Amino acid sequence: QKGQIRVQTENIFPIIKKFLYSEHEIFLRELVSNAVDASQKLQTLANTGEAKGELGELRIDIKIDADKKTLSIIDRGIGMTAEEVDKYINQVAFSGAEEFLDKYKDANIIGHFGLGFYSSFMVSDKVEIFTKSYKDAPAVFWSCDGSPEFELHETEKADRGTEIVLHINDESTEFLEADRIRGILERFCRFLPIPVYFEDNQINNTNPIWTKKPSDLTTEDYQKFYKELYPYGETPLFWIHLNVDYPFNLTGILYFPKIKQSYEIQKDKIQLYSNQVFVTDEVKDIVPEFLMLLQGVIDSPDIPLNVSRSYLQGDPNVKKINAHITKKVADKLDEIFKTDRASFEEKWESLGLFVKYGMMTDDKFLDKANKFLLMEDAETRKFYTLEEYKIETETLQKNKEGKQVILYTTNPVQQDAYIKASVAKGYKVVKMETIVDAAFINNMELKWENIHFTRVDADIVDNLIDKQEDTDSVLNSDETTQLKELFGVQIPDLHVTVEVKGLSPETAPVVATRPELMRRMKDMAAMGGG
Ligand code: ADP
Ligand code: MG
Repeated sequence: QKGQIRVQTENIFPIIKKFLYSEHEIFLRELVSNAVDASQKLQTLANTGEAKGELGELRIDIKIDADKKTLSIIDRGIGMTAEEVDKYINQVAFSGAEEFLDKYKDANIIGHFGLGFYSSFMVSDKVEIFTKSYKDAPAVFWSCDGSPEFELHETEKADRGTEIVLHINDESTEFLEADRIRGILERFCRFLPIPVYFEDNQINNTNPIWTKKPSDLTTEDYQKFYKELYPYGETPLFWIHLNVDYPFNLTGILYFPKIKQSYEIQKDKIQLYSNQVFVTDEVKDIVPEFLMLLQGVIDSPDIPLNVSRSYLQGDPNVKKINAHITKKVADKLDEIFKTDRASFEEKWESLGLFVKYGMMTDDKFLDKANKFLLMEDAETRKFYTLEEYKIETETLQKNKEGKQVILYTTNPVQQDAYIKASVAKGYKVVKMETIVDAAFINNMELKWENIHFTRVDADIVDNLIDKQEDTDSVLNSDETTQLKELFGVQIPDLHVTVEVKGLSPETAPVVATRPELMRRMKDMAAMGGG
């Protein structure tokens, strides 16, 4: 025998009330989304000629009545006939009982699990619907107090569209406060495509620029939109307009902000939208980790409203979206590098952090970034790509194994004497002074087989090629100890050697040297690494 499982409504309300508690405010997003859907459906029907006559102003109004303790969501959309209310509202549709049960066991998911219209019962003792269809049919009144019984009868209503009236329950009186409602609307409804009004003010920008064609937009448009998203942000370095329709749908604008230190906490994060409805700003799985410092908006109808972390991790689209964003970012960087190197160099201080993180964590990105990674010469401030550095130092900076040596400084001021000594020999010293650089160097030595990094004050610098120079210490051991104290070098650190470079102790720089290996081990220990 075959048949249909019947879901008992008695079971549903307690589940809604008990388990959907962690983000109650979601109900408003759901009801406003329904109002948007109803308005857009009407527009579509008008375009095809199925809905006749004047549409009037399609707008959504949110109203609080403090005395009656009600919150109303009013639209001028398609409305519903009595049959439609019975079909769409009285039957609670489940995507599948098993999936639902799976989900409601997991507290993480419940916070995001929306039940559309029925989420209004999280905050209401009673919900009423007044609705009049665009079709020539009587208006309808529906009411339900959270028990399985509902009331449904004809009513008088002048305007086409739907009004949902929530009788807010005693635990949810916060939703009768104007500031609270405005806050929720500004968070979720900021870019909805139908005007949303609250207390006579329009909440939303119905035409955000990410929905427009890049060719129709100017630099000012992008900068203005950035200010709209982040009023206190500095002008971004540049942006990428995403526009994909195959194999998934995705639009959006990613901004590269000015950043000096990668550990700066990014408060203004990328926002994820689904058809202009805000979903979340926890985009961890959608955006590659090294791009978490970017800002802006991603909109994809292929990401459902009811996202949860475990959902995203398992979703094949999310993987593809992630890879696509990485590729786009790499291509854009490559394009700027090729067409406007001066501006690329100017922005390198901020860009370098993204690029280096990306190279460490994403091999596809690494392949592309090898061409536009820049290293700044500590003396001349000139920028080299990897290839250019190799050409400049080709024969001079090879170690015994024949690897190209990249000489770097972690602190141009403190290591000035070493830099000068190296430059005098014709070596090129580049700056590696940001917080990511220590990890970057260790990581790239594994990935770039023919490269060896050497810090400018390492003992092996002298062994590069030019071994002739006399670098023996001219100090006796007492003098050495004094010097160590002078430079704050710990005496027990037996691995440090102190010497005067050159033959005239009065004028020559004094150099304290620690073996490269020892230094790296110390750095690793300090970083908490192994
Ligand atoms: P979903 O929006 O995912 O379909 P909901 O529970 O939010 O689920 O809504 C169920 C259905 O009720 C909608 O698909 C729509 O047909 C109908 N509906 C809800 N709100 C409105 C409204 N404001 N105007 C017209 N129809 C509505
Ligand atoms: Mg809905």
